[in-house]
Amino acid sequence: VIRTDALIVGAGPVGLFQAFELGLLEINAHIVDSLPYPGGQCAELYADKPIYDIPALPRCTGRELVDRLLQQVAPFKPGLHLGQEVQQLRREADGRFAVATSAGTQFLARTVFIAGGVGSFQPRTLKLEGLDAFAGGQLRYGLDDATHFAGQHVVVVGGDEGAIDSALRLARAGAQVLLLHRRDLPDAASAAFRFIAGQATGFAQHGGRLTHLHIATADGHTLHHALDALIVCLGLSPRLGPITQWGLALERKQVVVDTTRFQTNEPGIFAVGDIVHYPGKRKLIVSGFHEATLAAFAAAALLRPDEPVLLQYTTTSPRLHELLGVNIKPIA
Ligand SMILES: Cc1cc2nc3c(=O)[nH]c(=O)nc-3n(C[C@H](O)[C@H](O)[C@H](O)COP(=O)(O)OP(=O)(O)OC[C@H]3O[C@@H](n4cnc5c(N)ncnc54)[C@H](O)[C@@H]3O)c2cc1C
Repeated sequence: VIRTDALIVGAGPVGLFQAFELGLLEINAHIVDSLPYPGGQCAELYADKPIYDIPALPRCTGRELVDRLLQQVAPFKPGLHLGQEVQQLRREADGRFAVATSAGTQFLARTVFIAGGVGSFQPRTLKLEGLDAFAGGQLRYGLDDATHFAGQHVVVVGGDEGAIDSALRLARAGAQVLLLHRRDLPDAASAAFRFIAGQATGFAQHGGRLTHLHIATADGHTLHHALDALIVCLGLSPRLGPITQWGLALERKQVVVDTTRFQTNEPGIFAVGDIVHYPGKRKLIVSGFHEATLAAFAAAALLRPDEPVLLQYTTTSPRLHELLGVNIKPIA
């Protein structure tokens, strides 16, 4: 069990900046995200597109913003737990929060910050009844190690860059590949693999193994395609999921917070960024940064009730320089 002052659900831009603001107030934090990389929507939905409305950064891409946020928070060394969804959150008798993730990581946190954005990003599934029983075995969502499939018959389902790239990597690794997408894909013409425009309608199994995929082709045929593995690359979609199960007051699937502390109806659980609702809320990164700043001050007051929470400037405070690991010489 990892003990921490603060646990942040979501490593989007707001969750990352939350860790920074907490760090300035000497509150250590761990961050969990279901994606295998930090950055939330900026990384997942528009990594290469420019953003123009971050204060003092006239133009930067989604990826660049995430890199800068990671660099900014680095002095505080937040624990980053990626590729796992926070599923359980419950208050213990001593007031701390017991938090558990899909990977079995457990935390005991004194405060929790929900920075879950539009929800936890999960792979879109192929909706065929009973197919999920093969997940993690013959059925994979996304491809990591292509060489594992050398010599096998593999069907890749999907039509985006990731799907085409997976088909190519598999073919190069020596697999017999069929790429299946609902419509024609002019970009997918490749000598390396076979392409079919059509849809999976069912499957056959024998002795607990997936043996065939039934395909209705776009030109009206039915195929029973023999396969060893099925790689589904249909992208990711956000799912609010477990956040709705934690007893927090919600309004239209947003977490309700007060605008002085950004606290939810549960004392000690704060919420910031796209996930929150309050009068006048705008889903912009800059709004999330403000929310994270005030939430950090509120958490400091809660964690250290006997000490005043002083506002210090990063430009002039020797203590903050020490925390940030910078050594600014006084101007003579
Ligand atoms: C195409 C596009 C362009 C945009 N352009 C701009 C722009 O120019 N300027 C601007 O200000 N804003 C822009 N936005 C909006 C901006 O991206 C969001 O306001 C911002 O990403 C919100 O940050 P966040 O950290 O609150 O949430 P997110 O970025 O959504 O991150 C939330 C993270 O929480 C994770 N998560 C959720 N639930 C769980 C859970 N239970 N367990 C583990 N992890 C979980 C998710 O996987 C996700 O990574 C744009 C959005 C889009 C889609």
